[in-house]
Amino acid sequence: MEFDTEDLVSHSTDVLVIGSGIAGLTAALTASGERTVALVTKARIQETNTWYAQGGIAGAVGEADSVELHLADTLVVGQGLCDEDVVRAVVGEAGDALGDLVSMGVPFDRDAGGQRVALAREGGHSLPRVLHSGDSTGAAVQDTLSAILRRAEGVEVFEERFLIDLLTADDRCVGALVFNPDTHLPEVFWADAVVLATGGCGQVFRVTTNPAIATGDGVAAAWRAGAQIADLEFVQFHPTALDNASSPKFLITEALRGEGAYLLDCAEERFMLGVHPLAELAPRDVVSREIEKVMARCERPNVWLDARHLGAEYLKARFPMIWEKCRESGFDLAADLIPVAPAAHYMIGGVRVDIDGRSSLPGLYASGESTASGLHGANRLASNSLLEGLVFSRRIARALLKDAIVPRPSRVTSGDEHRAPAFATLGVRDLIQDTMSNHVGMTRSEDSLARAASVLDGLSGLLGTEFSEASDLELQNLVTMATLIARAAWMRTESRGTHSRIDYPKRDDAAWAGHLLWMRGADPHFEPITHRGGR
Ligand SMILES: Cc1cc2nc3c(=O)[nH]c(=O)nc-3n(C[C@H](O)[C@H](O)[C@H](O)COP(=O)(O)OP(=O)(O)OC[C@H]3O[C@@H](n4cnc5c(N)ncnc54)[C@H](O)[C@@H]3O)c2cc1C
Repeated sequence: MEFDTEDLVSHSTDVLVIGSGIAGLTAALTASGERTVALVTKARIQETNTWYAQGGIAGAVGEADSVELHLADTLVVGQGLCDEDVVRAVVGEAGDALGDLVSMGVPFDRDAGGQRVALAREGGHSLPRVLHSGDSTGAAVQDTLSAILRRAEGVEVFEERFLIDLLTADDRCVGALVFNPDTHLPEVFWADAVVLATGGCGQVFRVTTNPAIATGDGVAAAWRAGAQIADLEFVQFHPTALDNASSPKFLITEALRGEGAYLLDCAEERFMLGVHPLAELAPRDVVSREIEKVMARCERPNVWLDARHLGAEYLKARFPMIWEKCRESGFDLAADLIPVAPAAHYMIGGVRVDIDGRSSLPGLYASGESTASGLHGANRLASNSLLEGLVFSRRIARALLKDAIVPRPSRVTSGDEHRAPAFATLGVRDLIQDTMSNHVGMTRSEDSLARAASVLDGLSGLLGTEFSEASDLELQNLVTMATLIARAAWMRTESRGTHSRIDYPKRDDAAWAGHLLWMRGADPHFEPITHRGGR
């Protein structure tokens, strides 16, 4: 976009946090003691993926549990691509971080005696380890942290402000260009450090559990600014979204299977028995792919979730939101089989960060779902993502105290030399979503990825057009994210974790034990695993 910061309304802060989910709120709160903080978010503060999280947050806090067991479960699910040092740092800090959430007032459920937090079991975990607040854990965390943030000193919150681009000068991030819908103009936020906490991009797919805000804006902006990104081919599909007409799809948490619900095929038989020792609680990639096979065999758009044997009283008390949502959709959780199908759920890749959340671009930090931190490898262990945002943002706040502060420039300008002719945007969002769901979904092939590439190439003119509406800026980010995901998926000629190629059905450690790293202006670069955790 063409601009001169001297012509724009400008704000100045020590730390600029972009995003108000668990990663953004935690970064703002922990940094605020020492620095001034501005938090910018594109919708109302609670409109985040975090708010929709149901199952909970993993942490080895139970008597029978240990950091070593949580580490081992995370590495197994990550299929050779986790960074063991990162996993150890995150699961090792979980106890303290979760203890702080309890002290801040997050109402986690407690056991019958009320002495300890209650722990649920989810897919891939070898024992109950997930702290939860009914089936609305994300909302409990979001509401508690947002309320504290609004009272915090030294923090200014800017809702309904859209990150357009990161501002760079001398190969350093020095702030951001943010769209103000009230004035219809961009504004500049100068900062010593920018923390990107903009979440994922489920909205590139037609069938997703992610709310409308999840358009990958932050990762696309980081890419444009020259930060390194990684692992975009790994997109996690959740096995059990309610199969009705709504969009986004309503998730039915894995914790329901953790409490004993079954998955049934069209003959009402349990099909996960014999597929994996953990049956319905196998890692998500295994369950989602098996569901896809059963749907094809049964020629149906869904399989069935059976929770009837758990009883109405228990289900209503433990899963009140799911109970209500099923009722609204015409299903009685205690009497009916519930139609479920996989949906795009979580972006494993993103801005590549080190163990303290620093990106490759000095001055830019990132936390949460917008990152490729090395925690998840090729597949995310259930309930490790809220934990990732929580722990990484605390680490960033500590890193900010150590990292040098560099004088900021007084002016940044950008010309319009790349501007392309106007591009009609009607129907483009649908086209991207259909293309990605049809061709870059749970199973991919050379052929399907080539089809996706040809549609996305046709949309590349949109990237050079200068838009001034947030919805059009989102579209540009969706095209960028879809193109990067499709290209990475095309390059990785193996199947591993969430990435499954029908033409390369096996995991290929000889060729692919490593990460695809990218920077704008250069070809993707394969970096073999150098860290521990590659098993
Ligand atoms: C239905 C559902 C259930 C889930 N259940 C669980 C669970 O039980 N446990 C678990 O660990 N994980 C769960 N997840 C995943 C988890 O919720 C997310 O990975 C996590 O909340 C991401 O947190 P975040 O802070 O990184 O991003 P988010 O919470 O998504 O926040 C992103 C923020 O960035 C803002 N933003 C984005 N773009 C811009 C822009 N251009 N300008 C300004 N602001 C912008 C958004 O408005 C938002 O405030 C679930 C996800 C979904 C969708």
